[in-house]
Order: sequence, then C-alpha cells, then structure tokens
Amino acid sequence: MPANGRRDSPAEGRGLIRAEACEVNLAHHCNLACRGCFHLSPILPKRYADPVELRTKLSWLARCYRAGSLRLIGGEPLLHPDIPAVIAAVRESGVSSRLVVVTNGLLLGRMPDAFWAGVDKVRISSYPGKAMPGALLRECRRKAIRFGVDLRLALCPEFREPFSIPGTEDAGLVGRIYRTCLHAHVWQCHTVDAGYFYKCPQSRFIPAALPDATFSPQEDGIPIEDSPEFAGAVRSYLGSPVPLKSCRHCLGSVGKKFDHELVERSTWARRQDRPVEDLVDLECLARLEARPSSDPGYGGAVYHLNRLRDYLRHLIAQRSLGAVAAALMPRLRRRHSPERTPPVAPSSG
Ligand code: SF4
Repeated sequence: MPANGRRDSPAEGRGLIRAEACEVNLAHHCNLACRGCFHLSPILPKRYADPVELRTKLSWLARCYRAGSLRLIGGEPLLHPDIPAVIAAVRESGVSSRLVVVTNGLLLGRMPDAFWAGVDKVRISSYPGKAMPGALLRECRRKAIRFGVDLRLALCPEFREPFSIPGTEDAGLVGRIYRTCLHAHVWQCHTVDAGYFYKCPQSRFIPAALPDATFSPQEDGIPIEDSPEFAGAVRSYLGSPVPLKSCRHCLGSVGKKFDHELVERSTWARRQDRPVEDLVDLECLARLEARPSSDPGYGGAVYHLNRLRDYLRHLIAQRSLGAVAAALMPRLRRRHSPERTPPVAPSSG
C-alpha cells in the first residue's frame, strides 16, 4: 500500500484536503477499562477537550481541510461536563457537516435535548458484559427518532493488541506495520487534540502512556496554525512514507486478536509489556500487504456471520424485535451496493 493508501489520497489532492473522518477526544478517560482500548484510556489521566480552543483550532484547520464526519469520541465522550458547548464549537468551525458521537452508551440517558438536537449520528459500541440496559436503549431509540438522529449499535466482541511498551528495534517491521495501517491510511482516524493534528489517535496517546517515553506526543503531530504554510504542512505530513515515532510501539491494524474483556486499570499496562514481535499477527500483516484495500483486519466471513448472530441475539435480548428488520435493511443494502463504504474503525468509547 502506498504511504497514504486511499485512492483519493488527501496528500495528492488539489484544493481542500479531504478525509474520511476527524476525531476529537472529548474525555481521555473512560468509565470502562477494555483490555484492547486503542486510545489507551484505562491508563490516561482525566482530561477534557476545551470548547474554546477547539473552536479556534478546528476553524483554522477548516481553511484547508474537510472531513466526511467529525467524531466525538474518547475515552468516553459523554463524561465531558459541557457537550452542548463542544457541539456548538465543532459546528461553527465548519470542519465537517456531519457530527458523529461514538460512545459505550451507558451515560446516554443523561444527555439533554441540546445533545440530541446537535448530532447527526450516535454509534453505540456495545461490549460483552457491559451492554446498555434494554430500557435505556429503547428510551434512546425513541429520542433518536424524535430528533432525527441515526442511532446504531455495534457489537465489539473482539479486539487486536493495541501497542507494546518496549516496542521493537526492527525498522523493517515498523515500516510494514505503518504501511498496512488502516487507522492512518484507510479509516483516516485523524485526531485533533490540544492544538495539534495527528494522523491517528495512537500517535497522540502512545507517547503519553509509555512509562519511559523518549519523545512527546507533539513530536508525532503537527501544530494547527493560522498561517499560509499550514495546508502544505498537513499534505506533507499525511503523505509521508516515514513511520511516526509511535509506530515503533504500535501494532497498527495487525495486533494479535483476542476476545474482549474488562480488566483492572492497575493491571492494564502489564499485558502490553511485551515486544512488538510477541504481539503482532504476521498472517494478518501478510494478508494486508497482499490485499491492502480488503477488510481482513477484523476477520473474514465467519467473523462477520458471528457478529450478525450476536447482533440478532442482542436485539432479541433487548426485546427490540421490531428493530431487527430496521437495523438489518440498511446493512443488507450497503453490502449489495457497488459502492461500499470503507469499514468503520473500532473505537473506544
Ligand atoms: S502510530 Fe499506529 S496507528 Fe498511528 S500510523 Fe503508526 S502504526 Fe498506524
């Protein structure tokens, strides 16, 4: 795959830089501690996005950049104390006309009407053992219908190893992981945080989580500036074939797969104290190198059938049988559409 693997690579485009999605982490911490959290939330300190700073920086970014959607994510984004202010700031910036919230849904019942009126889509990541209670889900479905919000439920039964504390000294392996990285090159989970622009959330969070980090998060991003040179800096950054410093510790899209589990925060990092070589799925890496635009990162047909089975079971358990048909029809239509959209990145929240 080229360093920037999409056909309409932003680094090669003219005019505005166009991207699939840009993410803002409203809260770095989370009310859950998932073993495979790509945003490393279980070991990050509490931190909230500042709406005033966001309005300024996203407005500067919007002068040269547009995202298909702006994702409010985390950690758990609904922990933010003033989400309506963030929604207003993001809307005013113009960086995207589509606002998506990615959440575990457990706090969704507390959201005011201003929240539902301000967003286009809510994607609930449902983790085994921590699914939303059925009554809460039904209440949120009613709210979503009332405010015209697209409410989706995504079961998340599997993860891939996110990162390695000791990393690797094998520059060849780092390059292979970077070149096949779906987060950076296909899903384009660009991230804006504390005035910096990153090509993936991992490059923001890995340096912050390493116990003996020799580099800062800012070294893997670029400062968002109100200057004529900024657009060129973004293009050059997104199109660079050179791995980031974080890539030496990151598993990209090719960490070994495991079933989801909730763990103690105090033991979370211990599982990642192994070299990259112990955590990488070499078969998946080879598959992505052979077919970079495929969706092998999260399994093949069996995996997707299992997800469908789990999803049906979940809806039935929630006594939302009527929602089964409503939920399946758009999926089936998409699956048979000649213009399938890229897979959605697994996310925390
Ligand atoms: S840090 Fe990880 S997610 Fe980011 S570009 Fe490198 S391999 Fe991909």
